This record gives sequence, C-alpha cells and structure tokens, in this order.
Amino acid sequence: MGPPPILGFAVRLSANPVAGTDAVPPWSTAGRAVPVHAESRGAGQPHWSGWVLTGASGGPVLACQDGVRVLLAGELYHRPALRDALGETDGETSDAELLLACWLRYGRSGLRLCNGRFAAVVTEGQAVVAATDHAGTVPLYLRCGPGGVEIATEAKTLAHRSGGRAPLSLAVSGTESAPGFGDVRRVRAGTAVTLTPGSTAATSMRTWLPPQHRVIVTPDDAVRRVADTLGEAVRTRLGTPGGAVTAVLSGGIDSSSVVALASGSNRAVETVSLGTDAGDEFAAARTVAEHVGTEHHEFHHDSANLVRQLPWAVAAAEITDAEVLEYLLPLVVLYRQLPGDSRRVVTGYGADIPLGGMHRATERLHSLDAVIADDMDTFDGLNELSPVLGGLAGHWTTHPFWDRDVLELLTSLEPGLKRRDGRDKWVLREAVRELLPVATVTRPKLGIHEGSGASGMWSTLLRDAGVAPDEIPAVKDAMSVEIHRRVVGEQEPPDDVYFDTVLHGVLAGRTSAVVGR
Ligand code: AMP
Ligand code: MG
Repeated sequence: MGPPPILGFAVRLSANPVAGTDAVPPWSTAGRAVPVHAESRGAGQPHWSGWVLTGASGGPVLACQDGVRVLLAGELYHRPALRDALGETDGETSDAELLLACWLRYGRSGLRLCNGRFAAVVTEGQAVVAATDHAGTVPLYLRCGPGGVEIATEAKTLAHRSGGRAPLSLAVSGTESAPGFGDVRRVRAGTAVTLTPGSTAATSMRTWLPPQHRVIVTPDDAVRRVADTLGEAVRTRLGTPGGAVTAVLSGGIDSSSVVALASGSNRAVETVSLGTDAGDEFAAARTVAEHVGTEHHEFHHDSANLVRQLPWAVAAAEITDAEVLEYLLPLVVLYRQLPGDSRRVVTGYGADIPLGGMHRATERLHSLDAVIADDMDTFDGLNELSPVLGGLAGHWTTHPFWDRDVLELLTSLEPGLKRRDGRDKWVLREAVRELLPVATVTRPKLGIHEGSGASGMWSTLLRDAGVAPDEIPAVKDAMSVEIHRRVVGEQEPPDDVYFDTVLHGVLAGRTSAVVGR
C-alpha cells in the first residue's frame, strides 16, 4: 500500500449553490485532482464544491450518511480498536467511513477518539467542522468570506482565490493567521473549528493537548512501554503486509529504531540516505542497513545545488522560518530524488522534541524538562511533518515518533528516564538495544542539517556573496520570506524562483534600507 486515498483538498462550503467549477488549485502535492460536488439537501445544509487530490487508489471522495458528510485527507492508525468500539465488522471500511461512524455515535467529540495523520471536514445541518489530528501533522487552512467557507490543506490554494475580496476571517476561534496572508487562517493542532457559511462566528474545541504531567515508572517498565508503543506505531504505518516501505535513514538512533522495528514485519524495507560533498552519515547508515538487512541506497548530492532547491522546501512547508527550513530542505531534496512515485515513507523525525534530544548539553533535569515542555508548546505551525514535503514528489510520509500514543508516552515520562547514566534519549536507546549494533545505540545525535551540510552550505553561499557572519541569520530569514511570497503568495513554480536572484534582491533591499536610514 502506498499513499492513502486522499492526499489533500481545497473545498468551498457555501449556503448557496456555486455555479460552475473553479479551476484546479495550484497545489504543490503531486496527484490526480478530482472534483467534489455535493448539493445541499435542504435545511440550510451547505453545498460542497472544489477539488480533492487523490493518490493511486480511487474510491468515493465523501463518506455520507444521515445528513453527515465527511472528507478526510490522510489516514487513521488504530483502525481495529476504533472498529471494535464502533461495532464495525467490515474490514474494508475506509478511514473517512470510520470517522463518519465515529461522528454518528459520538458527535463532534468523536474527533477526540482519532489517532491519525489527517485533516478532515465534516458537515452536519448548517455546521461545517474543520479538524486537524492531535499534532496538526496535515496542515489545514481556512478562509471565511461572503461566498462561504473555504478549507484547504495547502495555504497557496486559498491565496490563489483571494481575488481581492474583503477578508472576514480576521479572528476565528481555534485558528492562527498563516504567515504572509491577512485572511488565510491555519487551524491549530488538535483542534476542531465549527463554522457556518456566510458568518464569521466560530467555536473551537481541543481534541488533544500535550501532556503537562510527568509519570514515574521503573526504568524497566518505561523501556518496555516505549518498545511496545513505538513498535505498534511503526507497524500500523507500514501499509498492507507484503507491501514495500521506504525508510529515510541517517544511522542515528531515531531513524535506526524505526528501521529495526519495520524490518521485523512482513515488508520489504528499503532504506535511503542522503549525503553531500559538505557532509554525510553514510557509514553510520550502512552499519544499520547491513545489521538489519535492508535494501540500502545512498544518494549523493551537490551541496550548493541542494541549497538552491530551497524554493521547493518553502512551497511544501509554507513557512518562513529559515531555521526550520534548514531541517526540511535535505529531506525535500531526498524525496525529490527517490526513483518512482507513490512510495510509503517512514522517518525518525521528531523524536528529539518529547525526548529532549536537541538539548544534549542540558545537564540538569529540571531544565531538560523545561525545554521539552516549551518545545511541546511551540511546535504548532512549524509544519515540520507536513505531507506536502514528500507529496511534491508523489510520496506519502509518516512519522511513528509523532503517533499520538508514542508522543504522549515519551512526553510524559519523567526526565530522569530521558537523560540517564550520562546518555541522552536513554529510554529509547534501551528500548531498541537488542535490535541494533552497539555503535548505533551509543551514537551521539547529529541533526540532519549538520549531517548533510545544508546549513553550512547556505551560510557559505551567503558569505561568498559578501554577507557578514552576524548578518547571516537575518539574510536567511529575509530570503525565506521573499521565497514564500513568491511560491505561496503568488504561486510561482519553485523552479522559476532562483536562489541567487532572491539573495541579490534581499541584499539590494538591505543596502538601500541602510543607506536611507
Ligand atoms: P534528525 O535531524 O537527524 O533528527 O533527522 C530527522 C530524520 O530525518 C531522521 O530520523 C531520519 O529519518 C531523516 N534523516 C536525517 N538525516 C538523513 C540523511 N542524511 N539521509 C536520510 N535521512 C535522514
Ligand atoms: Mg540525525
């Protein structure tokens, strides 16, 4: 099994029927656009119109029953448990149908039951509900206007349709403004927003919050729980038995854990690693691939060329934060380089946040826990897990460490289980100790932007253009904002936006600002 049936959507819910069909929206995700159209059945029900983006498999776009309509992009991960709770006996039920059954039984609170990687729209009566998964891993945007509510998984599809209309959605409960737009709002992680077409009144409900408490369990128990929960999260992400899955492998403990757990299943696991002339982790990744027995491939890339693909990363992530873009860029480049399309890709992304892995120099447990709490409070809106990153090359990515159960468990473990015996991410390392080489279990962390040389090369290109060292972060941010304006705001194709042109434009703007001061 490759990608899920629906990868994204851009739909309008309106009180009055919409004449004709809008053009296919300018999204970055690769896939087949299929029109969606559903007439109101009276009683103020909204009309649906717009487009969904389908992966390889077809099937109905909307799940409908008893006046409720459900559109779901992405997938759910605890189908058997959900089916049991709902008394569903049909193993073929789609995830949209499962969510529908959940809604019919529990109402809006049914969204609180769902552990998945999804964005959904549900209509019932006059109400339109836009919902994200617990961590908002599929970004979801909306705009309210006189014509109705527009809801989409890529912000650029709404920017495209702005058409100078007066923005109404300046402050919708449960949303934040998306970078670069006045009137496009992003639905927050773990949130369901309820709206009515033609009105700006909205209410919101949280479906998940990061745990604030910490639990004390014995080290043995913690290790066992992490092994079990992560193993289950990996298994549910592998697709149908006998299928193929790709893992992006750096040879660090996070991705190596995922690879080791994945290869214990009845799947052909292919591992892929990216390296550049500025750096690689090939030896560490190869050690893991050989130990576990995966089909392994190395992708060499020219580092200057890698950095010049920044517009692709901006178009996919739809953010302006240069530091986050540096993490995402090597992955985008790797996804674009993978042969074929429609791969199912698992990653080790995100383990450091609940485990405090980035803070390896943080000695004291109370400050380690403080940074974990802070990182869990501020991940929303960074779009680090957006499916568009792989979707622009036709692949579906999924991240076991941000499974709801795994994330909750890791976050809530007391920090002494995360830093122990002088080691970072202790509980994870212990949980996979038997599955991996000793060198991997004890290997210190290296960030993807460091391992691939991405951040170093971006800085080098700026220094070569005469940027002073202390100006580099500001220039990177200004470049990100300008690229975002063009590829998201103006929907220019990323290949038409040249890194060097943007850099020179930013530098010219800065010079004139200084001169004019
Ligand atoms: P990191 O910043 O090292 O935690 O990287 C996040 C995730 O990206 C890892 O868990 C891997 O799945 C993937 N990754 C990092 N570096 C590479 C690389 N050089 N090649 C392939 N995948 C990588
Ligand atoms: Mg790494």
